[in-house]
Amino acid sequence: MVTYDITCRTYNGYDINGLGQLKDGRGNIAPSTIIMPTLAMEAKEEAELKGTDIVEEFMKILDEAIEDCREGLEDRYKYIISQPVESALFSYENGLMAGYIPEEGIESALKHGTLAIGNIGLAETLQILIGKDQTEKEGFELAERIYKLFNKRCKEFKEKYKLNYGVYNTPAENLCYTAMTKFKAKYGEIPNVSENLYFTNSIHCPVWKEISPFEKIDIEAKLGNYSNAGDILYIELDSDAIHNLDAIETYINYAMDSDVPYFAINIPNDTCLECGYTGEFNESCPVCGSTNIQQLRRVTGYLTGNYKTAFNKGKQQEVEMRYQHSKKLRGIDISKFVSEEKERLA
Ligand SMILES: [Zn+2]
Repeated sequence: MVTYDITCRTYNGYDINGLGQLKDGRGNIAPSTIIMPTLAMEAKEEAELKGTDIVEEFMKILDEAIEDCREGLEDRYKYIISQPVESALFSYENGLMAGYIPEEGIESALKHGTLAIGNIGLAETLQILIGKDQTEKEGFELAERIYKLFNKRCKEFKEKYKLNYGVYNTPAENLCYTAMTKFKAKYGEIPNVSENLYFTNSIHCPVWKEISPFEKIDIEAKLGNYSNAGDILYIELDSDAIHNLDAIETYINYAMDSDVPYFAINIPNDTCLECGYTGEFNESCPVCGSTNIQQLRRVTGYLTGNYKTAFNKGKQQEVEMRYQHSKKLRGIDISKFVSEEKERLA
């Protein structure tokens, strides 16, 4: 039940129960995710019924949902700490759980973990509320208002309940599809909202948006910084990027300079399992023509050998719709850009 903070986007913030900034030996005890587009549809109905403002209605409904999430997580926490130490004896006996005091039971360790309040579908939510997403100024401002609320409430919960509530930008590998399937059954296909098979991940810009790596970092770094329980920011590059290490270094520096907690660069890597040729090719190997291909992709946090068998239809479609942000920089003098960027960072 405890997810250790090793490689996924899960992240431990400041521990209110005495361990401060310590990361090791703590984990995400339980996550819960708010499907924001559904709340936005409820806000729309309310606003139409009462003649009120849809955004204000949404903020109210969201606030209630954050509280519901908190209560649900508290219930789960209480259930988890009621388990005997034997439920994970190896972890406790071998010092893997920071703060564990045998006489006090497993709560002595688990109280240092995170209770994650997650979210999905910011982009679609903004479309329902104002017809724009976070890549436009007005959408970005509303996005900030939404995540400031998440952040503020988690801080308050942490103080009041002495548990590490945190804002979590949920991976939602399965939920992206299951939530959308249910949404469509109820509300049908709405342009810019439910035309696809998936909801957009957390705060991420819609994957098909033709924006540069820098624009994506600018938007998602700011929104991601309201999270204190987990976040990832990735940019998609074409396979030629491996021949331009200066550009890759620039993206990394830009992301680090923008305070990105977890930055990932996705470069498609296809390997022909017959002749060993690597590159980016979809149907067959351009050298020997074999269709025996391994397509290595970073779909969420982890590298996945074959996303077509590892993920549901929603996530597969999302991967296929991803725009390669490096394409936006084609035709501009990247070396000039890189040297200017180096000067700026010096
Ligand atoms: Zn081949």
